[in-house]
Amino acid sequence: MNRYDAFLIKYAEIGIKGKNRHVFEEALVRQIRIALRPCEGHFNVIRTYGRVFVEAKSEFDFEEVTEALSHVFGIWGICPVAVHDLMPLEELSKTAAAFMREEYPQGSHTFKVRTRRMNKEYPQDSLEINAELGHAVLEACPNLSVDVHTPEVTLCVEIREKLYIYSQVIPGPGGLPVGVGGKCMLLLSGGIDSPVAGYMVAKRGVRIDAVYFNAPPYTSERALQKVIDLAREISVYTGPIRLHNINFTEIQLYIYEQCPHDELTIIMRRYMMRIAERLAMENECLGLITGESIGQVASQTLAALAVTNEVCTLPVFRPLIGFDKEEIVRVSKKIGTYETSILPYEDCCTIFVAKHPVTKPRAEVIRKHEHNLDEKIEEMVERAIANDDIINISNYRPQQ
Ligand code: ATP
Ligand code: MG
Repeated sequence: MNRYDAFLIKYAEIGIKGKNRHVFEEALVRQIRIALRPCEGHFNVIRTYGRVFVEAKSEFDFEEVTEALSHVFGIWGICPVAVHDLMPLEELSKTAAAFMREEYPQGSHTFKVRTRRMNKEYPQDSLEINAELGHAVLEACPNLSVDVHTPEVTLCVEIREKLYIYSQVIPGPGGLPVGVGGKCMLLLSGGIDSPVAGYMVAKRGVRIDAVYFNAPPYTSERALQKVIDLAREISVYTGPIRLHNINFTEIQLYIYEQCPHDELTIIMRRYMMRIAERLAMENECLGLITGESIGQVASQTLAALAVTNEVCTLPVFRPLIGFDKEEIVRVSKKIGTYETSILPYEDCCTIFVAKHPVTKPRAEVIRKHEHNLDEKIEEMVERAIANDDIINISNYRPQQ
């Protein structure tokens, strides 16, 4: 038997006051439901009294549920709650003391009691209840002592039509619930950076679609599988992702044939951006996201970024722009994408690379060389988009 019946979800109040509050809460409830789908057990996720509750309707695995909830953006803290029918104060004292004994079986901690009595029919007021419960806990738990000013733990008791008892707060990931901020198209490669970039933008409440430029047969099935795996790994945070798998081979070969080789990467990246923007606009995305960071490679010098950027009208979000590789690696390890990212499969950027790519491309020169593509590039871009292979990614694998 679990000693908890529910989880009280605490969220940062910033930005959610006023008219937007219900939008925020609805998105949070939706994302929590998605996150709980793969978990054993049945749950009710409800908004009540201006807060969000996850009620367990069956047995569940505590670790599995708290792990799933700890990936939901917008959650500041997760409080496991014991729910009881109303009971007289004497019995409540015993119940609360037993709860604390189980919560803190060892180690010394300071605590205080905080009662909120919303149900005014309960005979004693919150001060009386605090005092009574404090005594009972002290008696039952010799390892706890009172500190009303800066306690390490707070025993919270809420008296409504039922009794809610909790004291632990498991940290959530912060941020805003995915869905409150619209949607963006992430250029997702198999590398370390782009999954982290997607995670960071999703953390601000933005839903993610993704596009992967694939170059079969130069890139293998394994390379595609790696990108699918990465998308699945970030979907634990972002919720379901529609991954557009775009066959880029013919465009890449054509650029290779027609343009100076030291400009291949930059021209190729301009076509990636153009196609990504088309897909974004067709799918109600309000911007693009890349994993670029200033100076990381030749195609990410300021000059190269500017030349890549000029082909887009949608904003391009580059959340890693000021990050060192080491910092990016740290986040990728934290979110669990690193091990997949370092698998050694070819990416379309690593084939046909020039020995000395331009680091200071000039837009007018690049534009001029792109005219070498005029004859066929339009139809190739149309074909690539028409053959878009959409893969639906979610964290949910139905049980057999
Ligand atoms: P990453 O680690 O994300 O692959 P990178 O350091 O390899 O980045 P580049 O190859 O220059 O850097 O790519 C820069 C950005 O362009 C990537 O972060 C990604 O957003 C996008 N990108 C690169 N290759 C592809 C691809 N094959 N499909 C989709 N997007 C790509
Ligand atoms: Mg890459």
